[in-house]
Amino acid sequence: MKKELLKVKDLKISYFLDSEVKEAVKGVSFTLYEGETIGIIGESGSGKTSIAMSIMGLLTNAKIEGKIIYDGIKFNTLRQKELNRYRWNEVAIVFQNRLDVLNPVLTIREQIEEVLKKHTMKSKGDIKKRVKELFSMVNLEEKWLSSYAHELSGGMRQKVLIAMALSCNPKLLIIDEPTSSLDVLSKREIINLLKSIQKKNNISMLVISHELPVIQELTTKVEVLYLGHILEEGLTRDLINNPMHVYTRGLINSSCDINVYKELWGISPKINLKSGNGCPFYQRCVQASKECTQKLPRLSYISIERKVACNKGGIVTILETKDLSKAFKSHGSKIYACKNVSINVKAGEVAALIGASGSGKTTTAKIISGFLKSDSGSIYFEGKEIHGCEAMRKIHGIQIIFQDPFSAINGDFTVEKAVKEPLEILNIGSEEERKAMVKKALQDVQMPFDNEGLDIRCNTLSGGERQRISIARSLVMKPKLLIADEITSMLDPSTKANILRLLKGLQNEKGFSMLFITHDLPLARKIADKVYVMNRGSIVEEGNALEIFNKPKCQYTKKLFKECFHMTV
Ligand code: SF4
Repeated sequence: MKKELLKVKDLKISYFLDSEVKEAVKGVSFTLYEGETIGIIGESGSGKTSIAMSIMGLLTNAKIEGKIIYDGIKFNTLRQKELNRYRWNEVAIVFQNRLDVLNPVLTIREQIEEVLKKHTMKSKGDIKKRVKELFSMVNLEEKWLSSYAHELSGGMRQKVLIAMALSCNPKLLIIDEPTSSLDVLSKREIINLLKSIQKKNNISMLVISHELPVIQELTTKVEVLYLGHILEEGLTRDLINNPMHVYTRGLINSSCDINVYKELWGISPKINLKSGNGCPFYQRCVQASKECTQKLPRLSYISIERKVACNKGGIVTILETKDLSKAFKSHGSKIYACKNVSINVKAGEVAALIGASGSGKTTTAKIISGFLKSDSGSIYFEGKEIHGCEAMRKIHGIQIIFQDPFSAINGDFTVEKAVKEPLEILNIGSEEERKAMVKKALQDVQMPFDNEGLDIRCNTLSGGERQRISIARSLVMKPKLLIADEITSMLDPSTKANILRLLKGLQNEKGFSMLFITHDLPLARKIADKVYVMNRGSIVEEGNALEIFNKPKCQYTKKLFKECFHMTV
């Protein structure tokens, strides 16, 4: 049976800053078993380092509540003198690699010897022997022992810090940002070194890092920390491949190491540190509701190895279609434009529906938006079955932007009339409110929204400008799902790039989900979180965008990518 080595239970850490009390950690619990490696990830200021320092008993200026139990011993009730028996010998920390962590006036040898003198009963000779052993363990040449910290490179200093932490053979190693500010080769060396040390010595590790590839390589389980709360916990590989909390997904989407093709967008930064009694993440959450401002979500199991702190049980599904089919008659035979199409789009997600022209993408979009009736199948929007255009005819519903901005908007309309029309048809808001909504939408799409701008006739606008008006016309309805059907295919490359950046920026800021329909594969690769590949009316492949673009499985997808990306598949 696995043995519990470290148990952190309802840990709360507060700092006293002048007259203010700042809560850095607000009830964190997790268990680390012998030989296990756990990662803690989160934005700066989430409380990662405070947790590490509190386990080491190094937060002398903070109030610590809850329990830190190491091997059955209540660490946070011990006096500093008693703690010294365990520090370095049982639990050691590899501090973040900064020049000031090492003493500038002592040689590296003197600094490692000092740790051994202080925490072991070794003789002078044994200490010298151990220092050499440690240097060989971290692959450093002995000649560097007589150097000073400033004479070493960042990677070498990190190795020295690891050697110091290992000096007394600890069972638990806490590693704070092991590779930050290291070049790519030194990073690789440090990761490999830590992996081999962990394996050889069966050391348990708590790795704190904002670099997801480091966490991916070094840990088996991960805790996702936000403003002192754990918002998600799970097995590292599963959690990174399939995050279930909006915050975790945002962290993953911000990592350029993981998103090698996609444009990077950080989590929308609306943030007020005082979250009151509600969910700490609600101001930045794309699926927040009123309940979230009042109810603090508890970290609870949503599957065997996954816990999420969210009142809605994690990222919700906005759109789900089940077995949509539509056939047309041609020369007496039935041709399926869309056959058993099942897709789902989650809150805040961009799902790309790709495939060659005529594969059934637009038919699917028309059925979802209610412009075309399917022969069979069903559509669910926010968990409720919808029929016809009902989701299009409401605020916070579904909106669609078409390929051709010229036919989508009446050229005789003024800009104001074109954007306001859906509000008028559905009788939403007073005249004054509608005008304010139109102005806001125009501002969002970076079009003039003064009286002169509102009076411009649409037929005097360029294709790119008209497409911006189409986007504004959709945004004015504050959609939860936007269907973008080949919206850049009629635009020149520069306008296309600008429109795409604008739309993705708006999606990131406002948090709507997007079904992005395109035959332009490089474009899909830049924007999609998830991909559906369509051929002859059927979905032939689906999954995480990175996985599909890296390793397509279906022959048809392989053929498409081979043509487009000159991929050898
Ligand atoms: S849905 Fe609500 S509870 Fe869940 S993460 Fe968003 S704001 Fe928090």
